[in-house]
Amino acid sequence: MRRVEERVYTGLAMSCLFCKIIEGTIPSVPVYQDDLGYAFADINPKAPVHVLIVPREHIGSIAEAGQDKTALLGHLLWAAAEIARKKGLKNGYRIVVNTGEDGGQTVDHLHLHLLGGRALSWPPG
Ligand code: AMP
Ligand code: ZN
Repeated sequence: MRRVEERVYTGLAMSCLFCKIIEGTIPSVPVYQDDLGYAFADINPKAPVHVLIVPREHIGSIAEAGQDKTALLGHLLWAAAEIARKKGLKNGYRIVVNTGEDGGQTVDHLHLHLLGGRALSWPPG
C-alpha cells in the first residue's frame, strides 16, 4: 500500500521560505539531509563554504525553541560539524544562529549558518 505523507501546517509555516525549500517547492542545492534536518547552500554566500542547516520542523527561531527541542538542536549542531568535516574545513569554521531583529535574522525559520574556507573576523558588525 502506498503511504501518503501528511504535513500539518500552521499559518506561519505555510508561507515560510525554508519550509518550501525543505518540501522542494522552492529549489535549493542540497548538502546534507536526514530525518530531522536539511542542509543546503546559501544563495548569497559570505564565505567559500556557506551552508544553512535547518530543522525539518518549522521553528521560528532559537528563541522559540522549547526545552523539548534540545535533542533536535544538538543534532543540528552535530550535523553542522559533520558537514564541516566532509567539506574538509580542517583550519576551522564558524557556526552562527542569527536571532531576531538585533541578531540580523531575515528568515523566520531557525537556521544555523556554517561559514568556512577563509579567516573570519571578530567581532561581527
Ligand atoms: P539570516 O539573515 O540569518 O536569517 O539568514 C538567511 C539566509 O538565507 C541568508 O544568508 C540568505 O542569503 C539565505 N537565503 C535566502 N533565500 C535563500 C534561498 N532561496 N536559498 C538559499 N539561501 C537563501
Ligand atoms: Zn518554516
